[in-house]
Amino acid sequence: MAVERTLSIIKPGAVAKNLIGNIINRFEEHGLRIIAARMIHLTQEQAQAFYAIHRERPFFPELVAYMTESPFIALVLEGENAIARNRELMGPTDPSKAAPGTIRGDFGKSITRNTVHGSDAPETAVTEIAFFFSHVDLFPRAR
Ligand code: GDP
Repeated sequence: MAVERTLSIIKPGAVAKNLIGNIINRFEEHGLRIIAARMIHLTQEQAQAFYAIHRERPFFPELVAYMTESPFIALVLEGENAIARNRELMGPTDPSKAAPGTIRGDFGKSITRNTVHGSDAPETAVTEIAFFFSHVDLFPRAR
């Protein structure tokens, strides 16, 4: 296994419900270290750019509306196998299919309002981290 980095977003609905600490706790308890964190309120244009791959999908307007409704927390997580580990902790995209104990299974309200985002591959992790953080914002953890 390799040490990887991945982008996590604690989405607006989860921030509004005061779930930041609960979710970060799950990451820290499962071997993921936070090496960058910020609160962001995206504009329409920024949200459209971040989710550009979904531009043609029917749910795109609803997704952009949700991601711009209030601030969210963007995190860079680092650890062994961080991309897959984070996605295991998140659970599947649709919360109704997510097991209890996963973040989406415990807190997700719908496919759109599904609590968290996590990069799905090394290439997307690089792009998504760079969308929110520059190199000097990352603090690899020696301890
Ligand atoms: P993820 O990697 O599990 O977040 O899923 P995707 O990258 O495929 O989709 C990005 C986000 O778009 C998801 O987290 C959902 O918020 C939303 N989304 C994806 N598929 C659907 C869908 O079929 N319907 C709705 N309403 N939203 C969706």
